[in-house]
Amino acid sequence: MNSDCLFCKIVAGNIPAKRVDEDELCLCFADINPQAPTHLLLISKQHIVSLAHTGPEQLPLLGHLLLKASEIARRAGLDRGYRIVLNSGAEGGQTVDHLHLHLLGGRPMHWPPG
Ligand code: AMP
Ligand code: ZN
Repeated sequence: MNSDCLFCKIVAGNIPAKRVDEDELCLCFADINPQAPTHLLLISKQHIVSLAHTGPEQLPLLGHLLLKASEIARRAGLDRGYRIVLNSGAEGGQTVDHLHLHLLGGRPMHWPPG
């Protein structure tokens, strides 16, 4: 845990969040500023700054996050499709420096992303 990190505080329960799912590796909760009818964040419980800070030792965790996202999307009824977004680094649009995926759905998504 990084005591200065917002998402570590959510994992620890020190900051409230609308929790959707949780297991030993990850936590899923609603984004506070939703960009789609369904907008969930799926974060690692371990403090990892970004995808750029991962290596082969995170292979099981990264696979787990993607499979978990598909399971949560199915449960959320996103049968018509959804988008997974993983912003990495400032230019990638990352604003919280703790590894997370966005799960967006419930409306058509556009391409290219902004
Ligand atoms: P990113 O820009 O990819 O780093 O995504 C960070 C996301 O965290 C943004 O979509 C924010 O709306 C969301 N966020 C920031 N603070 C909170 C919070 N306290 N609870 C839930 N989501 C948050
Ligand atoms: Zn953290």
